[in-house]
Amino acid sequence: MDLPESARQMRRHGDRGCEDIALQTDSLEQINEDLARANEYLETEIAKRWQFEASLRKAEREKAAILNGIAGVCVIHVDPELRILWANSVLCEKLGCPLTTLEGQPCYKAVFGRDCPCLECTVRAALRTGSIQQGEQALPDGTTWLICSNPIQEENGQVSGVIRTALDITERKQMEERLARSAAELRQANEALRESTARAEAANRAKSAFLANMSHEIRTPMTAIMGFADLLTDEADLGEVRDAVKTMKRNSDHLLGLISDILDLANLEAGNLPLQRAACSPVETVRDVLRAMQVRAEAKRLAMACHYRHPMPIAFRTDPARLRQILVNLVGNAIKFTDTGGIRVMVRVDSSGSESQMCFDVIDMGIGIPSNYIHDIFEPFFQGDESTIRQYGGSGLGLSIARRLARAMGGDIHVRSRPGEGSTFTLALPSGNLQDVPLLNESPAQLVDSDDKRIAASKTTRVEGRVLLVEDGLDNQRLIRLILQKAGAKVAVAMNGREALEQAWPELQQDHSAGDASEPFDLILMDMQMPVMDGYEATRELRRRGYTGPILALTAHAMTHDRQKCLDAGCDEFIAKPIDRDQFLSTIAHFLPAPPVQCPPK
Ligand code: ADP
Repeated sequence: MDLPESARQMRRHGDRGCEDIALQTDSLEQINEDLARANEYLETEIAKRWQFEASLRKAEREKAAILNGIAGVCVIHVDPELRILWANSVLCEKLGCPLTTLEGQPCYKAVFGRDCPCLECTVRAALRTGSIQQGEQALPDGTTWLICSNPIQEENGQVSGVIRTALDITERKQMEERLARSAAELRQANEALRESTARAEAANRAKSAFLANMSHEIRTPMTAIMGFADLLTDEADLGEVRDAVKTMKRNSDHLLGLISDILDLANLEAGNLPLQRAACSPVETVRDVLRAMQVRAEAKRLAMACHYRHPMPIAFRTDPARLRQILVNLVGNAIKFTDTGGIRVMVRVDSSGSESQMCFDVIDMGIGIPSNYIHDIFEPFFQGDESTIRQYGGSGLGLSIARRLARAMGGDIHVRSRPGEGSTFTLALPSGNLQDVPLLNESPAQLVDSDDKRIAASKTTRVEGRVLLVEDGLDNQRLIRLILQKAGAKVAVAMNGREALEQAWPELQQDHSAGDASEPFDLILMDMQMPVMDGYEATRELRRRGYTGPILALTAHAMTHDRQKCLDAGCDEFIAKPIDRDQFLSTIAHFLPAPPVQCPPK
């Protein structure tokens, strides 16, 4: 059926409307989808923002926890107008108000109660320069603070605020001041110590110089006294004169011992006593000592014996002369402080410790030592009670020197004693490695014979050759010439170094009176202290001119360094005044070309 036109038109409109609706529905659906997507996006963004804000808050809490937790450090965050943005709990507690009160206040007012910032405000400097500012700040309340203002720089380079930390360093400062004060006091004390040490050293040098001078002054006349006493002992016929001369000699020996002790003590105190190290026979040394002390023991009717605990090394390395000196002192004391009975010396090797030791026990049956001063006897000048001093005399130097020597040699001296029963002094010295040292298994009796012969021989040592004696002292000149001539030498004398040069080099000499110019001197005995030209200069000059013969220094300067001074000048040996005739002759004989002639004893 055909529809009327109007109806067809309506149908056409209706169809188009439907199409439009369909189209609009599509676009609405599209919009819906877009909206859903936008919603989803927004929700994710919001979630992200929440997360970000949460992490920001967490960071804030962590920052606060860190900044609150730095013990004793006040932290404050200010903006460019110096207004407080945040302060840590340390500062809040210190100021006694909560953070909320501080926030927004100018920091100079809230913290220091000022109306304006101070001139040296590090916060302002950090804001101005954009760099960290550090310094110390002393407050009127007496406290001192270590300040650090740290600028917060934005990406565009602008400073948006400052974190200022302040640490109370008052205690540290006080400690530093105290330390500085004590360092200054210490410096002062050191200075004073240096001054007093310098004074003490100067005094010590003066003392040493005095001792050396005194020693020289005393030794020079003693050379003559002792030497002539020696010669007179041989010559004097009358018993009384002989006794008198022997008394002179004994007393001179004693005086010389005393001078040597005082010199030794001075040298030891000045750390000026060089020690030798050489192979030393313990058996021979003890024998020598006992033989030397025999006369004293016999005078008191004391028996002397020596025991060796075998096997005994034939030698060990030590300073033989000092070992002898120590033993002489110990045996001398044993004899001195024993009135009846005897003295025993026991020689043994003690291997019980980590290092083996050579031990010498000097055992006496004497008065013994009370326990209350058994340690004091090693102090210089200590001599026990008054009655002991009165009865036995002495200087109180021997043991202190002996112990210091023993210690300088790496050992020591110990004592055991019972009053009324006797004492045992033990000298222990490091024996060194004895592995390759031959051992003695029994006491070598033949040593006694050879020692006896040697001692007997030394009394009659003869010397041959021409000796130039350079000596200005007339007494000593006569004495030494006499000793040398009696022993067989031809002697020429020079009064000083200049004369010695003239006589040793006749071509320089105007007056040839002093000897046969064609015959060179076999030995020159040179006193070191003389007028015109001293022995040092003369020796140096002789050596410079090519004199190769022996020059032996003869001097009353008996300090250790004096010996070295003589050797340095060119001398071959050093003989200290006063001379011991036998020792003197055997030293001379050693340097003369022909071996000394040994005469049989008369
Ligand atoms: P001196 O014997 O010249 O007085 P020492 O230093 O040798 O000096 O001795 C110091 C002191 O030690 C002596 O005065 C004495 O009282 C005591 N003494 C030393 N050795 C012995 C000993 N063998 N017996 C008893 N007393 C001793």
